[in-house]
Amino acid sequence: MPRGAFRGGIHPPENKSLTSGLPIVPAQQPSKVYVLLHTTSCPLNPLVAKGDQVLKGQKLADTDQKFGVPVHSPVSGKVAGISTVRTANGHDDTAIIVESDGNDTLHESCVPVKNPLSLSRDEIIAAIREAGIVGMGGAEFPTHIKLAVPPSAKVDTLLLNGAECEPYLTADHRLMLERPQDVVAGAQILMRALDVRKCVIAIEDNKPDAVQALTKEAASVPEIEVMAVRTKYPQGAEKQLIKSTLGREVPPRCLPFHVGVVVNNVGTAVAVADKFYRGLPLVERVVTITGSAAAKPANLLAKIGTTAAELVEQCGGVKGELGKVIFGGPMMGQAVFSLDVPTSKGTSGILLMTAEEARQREVLPCIRCGRCVDACPMRLEPAILHQWAEQQFWAEADAYHACDCIECGVCAFECPSKRPLVQAIRHAKFEIGRLRKAAKERGAK
Ligand code: SF4
Ligand code: SF4
Repeated sequence: MPRGAFRGGIHPPENKSLTSGLPIVPAQQPSKVYVLLHTTSCPLNPLVAKGDQVLKGQKLADTDQKFGVPVHSPVSGKVAGISTVRTANGHDDTAIIVESDGNDTLHESCVPVKNPLSLSRDEIIAAIREAGIVGMGGAEFPTHIKLAVPPSAKVDTLLLNGAECEPYLTADHRLMLERPQDVVAGAQILMRALDVRKCVIAIEDNKPDAVQALTKEAASVPEIEVMAVRTKYPQGAEKQLIKSTLGREVPPRCLPFHVGVVVNNVGTAVAVADKFYRGLPLVERVVTITGSAAAKPANLLAKIGTTAAELVEQCGGVKGELGKVIFGGPMMGQAVFSLDVPTSKGTSGILLMTAEEARQREVLPCIRCGRCVDACPMRLEPAILHQWAEQQFWAEADAYHACDCIECGVCAFECPSKRPLVQAIRHAKFEIGRLRKAAKERGAK
């Protein structure tokens, strides 16, 4: 197979030209930020109280649980309260609310690390955790966990994901174009943390300027190869990208490290460079404000925890009748019920769709055309999985590998009958997980 080739996939309209030519600009200082305390699966314990003065980069909450990462204040100002807020996924979470004083005064802990490449693996991984760094592609998986691969795993390659295959989003594109030196610097630190001598930076070939900028930047680092891969959704999914760049197949229920690879987003590499070379924990990120209902699309460098409403407002607000708001891209993003929700570390974009674009299409019966099967990059049978889910046949759905579904949305996009395939499979995955957990608990008794 040529580079960038994997089974299935689709070519949805890219719609990236709305923002791909727009440089990253700093967002206006938010009036307040909502720092969420449950960003990974571990709740965090606050280290500050209402009324406290805090500085930018100061640690606000932490946990001693393995998968947890601390959070830091994106602004200097005063803690206005610690209370429950509604988040983008519709759940309630606790947030530390910080009112900005507009000064962005840095906390004393925010100092660059001298010669980071001389640190040990453990020291680098500990510093990455301490900076609150998680996967910037959207999943927010803790980076220190990804890097702490089991000693038995023979990891030889760091794969930096710059595919950005989701339509509309251009945050990673602009980062690669404007901060290639930080992508490369972050990659070198991540390679040191993994003790590997090979890094591939994979970029879809619809971003030739980013490929050129990174190729130039990495020219003096022979361990880093910049690879243009075919533009095809979901090229940026981990397993597909590993296949298309390295030709390695990640077996079902296995992780990339089982085939010797650790995948990180290019935005994560920049966050790592920010920590080591500028002393900054993860408190801001690039957010693409885009869509037909966005008055002035933009790529904003935003403080994490700013509400979507504040970011959209400074881009001229909404144009026409707003039909739907999505955090992330249209294929895998999260529809949000209101703009009054805070952004998080994984918010790569805010997509504003018109009422016409968001109109629900009528769901028709399955005509057994097989298009969903042909397009599924995981070789699943979405129509049958949907059937099992409708009938609540969870054991059958499990036997048909529902849990291997990466929820890429390709099947639903292809379906001429507009069947809600992904929702049904997601439901099946949830029920299978619940049943497995119950069985495990019964076994433990
Ligand atoms: S959402 Fe799941 S079932 Fe549908 S195409 Fe993607 S991996 Fe296949
Ligand atoms: S694409 Fe839709 S209509 Fe065709 S087989 Fe799949 S579920 Fe049925």
